[in-house]
Amino acid sequence: MEHLQQENFSKKRTYEIAVIPGDGIGPEIIDSARSIMRQVAANYNFDVIEKQCLAGGAAIDEFGVPLPEVTLKTCQSADAVLLGAVGGPKWDHVPTEQRPEKALLGLRKGLGLYANLRPAKLYPALSAASPLHPTIVKDGIDILFVRELIGGIYFGERGRSGSGSTLRGYDTESYSVAEVERIARMAFIAAEGRKKHVISVDKANVLESSRVWRETVEKIAANHPAVTLEHLYVDNAAMQLVKRPSTMDVVVTTNMFGDILSDEAAMITGSIGILPSASLGEPDKPGMYEPIHGSAPDIAGTGQANPLATILSVALMLRYSLHQSEAAKDIEKAVDQVLSEGWRSRDLILPNQTVDPDKIVDCDGMTEKVLACL
Ligand code: NAD
Repeated sequence: MEHLQQENFSKKRTYEIAVIPGDGIGPEIIDSARSIMRQVAANYNFDVIEKQCLAGGAAIDEFGVPLPEVTLKTCQSADAVLLGAVGGPKWDHVPTEQRPEKALLGLRKGLGLYANLRPAKLYPALSAASPLHPTIVKDGIDILFVRELIGGIYFGERGRSGSGSTLRGYDTESYSVAEVERIARMAFIAAEGRKKHVISVDKANVLESSRVWRETVEKIAANHPAVTLEHLYVDNAAMQLVKRPSTMDVVVTTNMFGDILSDEAAMITGSIGILPSASLGEPDKPGMYEPIHGSAPDIAGTGQANPLATILSVALMLRYSLHQSEAAKDIEKAVDQVLSEGWRSRDLILPNQTVDPDKIVDCDGMTEKVLACL
């Protein structure tokens, strides 16, 4: 998995990171992530130059737009982008085109981020948090979702025709061979560094676009003989995900199917507060790293935010964009250790679960525990 973007790479010693705290709990969790980043930089003797940027609601307040030109330019020239989360009730009334979340689409497009990688991992210490039966999760869950991010139905031709009861709304799903090739390649390379198994999810029994998807994935599979390829129809994939998640390694799929299935996968791990994500484009372009959760306005400013998803996003950034895979592993091991030692933020405590009050930590407390393990 480490070699996903490593072609033609020589290790640098100084990295420029565009840091976008965003809104709600964004600034709190980004502060935590920055201190972890600084610690591993010191441990591994490299330098990080942080470029603070505004996006989302914070940018609307300052510049009147969710993604100012200066932010996009800074991100485009950085080695990687680290983002907290954007959005909140303060900006719910603004016109759709101006909403904070538009910044995310603008960044994906502006950085050419065509692949969204989401590890869905169930930590042994948190296995009780999974809503699945213990016999199903006893062997753990460690799935990497590879979702196509800038094509398919979310970006296809759409519109309305007719009127009254003949009014028809339509959206178009289409994928070119080139679009499928690049995402499939990324999935197979990732699988080569993992358990060497790829599940490609489509709806080839019904959709022509899925038949092109399947044919193309099979062609790419031929270049990766060490990896086993399995095809699942999306309805079956949704069922298998709750029936046999432990048998899944890498799952590659379209934008819409990936949107739905990766959220289902997040739920079976029990907490969105610990799940990171990476959005990647061409190997020489910056990737973007962010937690999968939103800006949690309900707990912003209370210190209750769990910083682990953002801290683990730093690990992904170190692995995929900075090629500091040992530092990435250190962070992942540290998080594992903190959870095994029983430290819990409030979101990780189940209803009716008894937790030693001395083991309950806030955002800063959790960050200190991770730092202590590094
Ligand atoms: P959310 O993920 O922000 O929150 C859902 C629930 O999970 C809330 O109860 C929240 O308190 C809790 N939660 C989320 N992250 C947590 C963390 N790190 N620690 C502890 N608890 C956490 O989703 P939402 O409430 O639907 O959305 C809130 C805002 O975030 C909206 O404006 C939405 O548009 C935006 N949003 C942004 C992103 C992004 O920036 N990538 C993603 C999703 C939603």
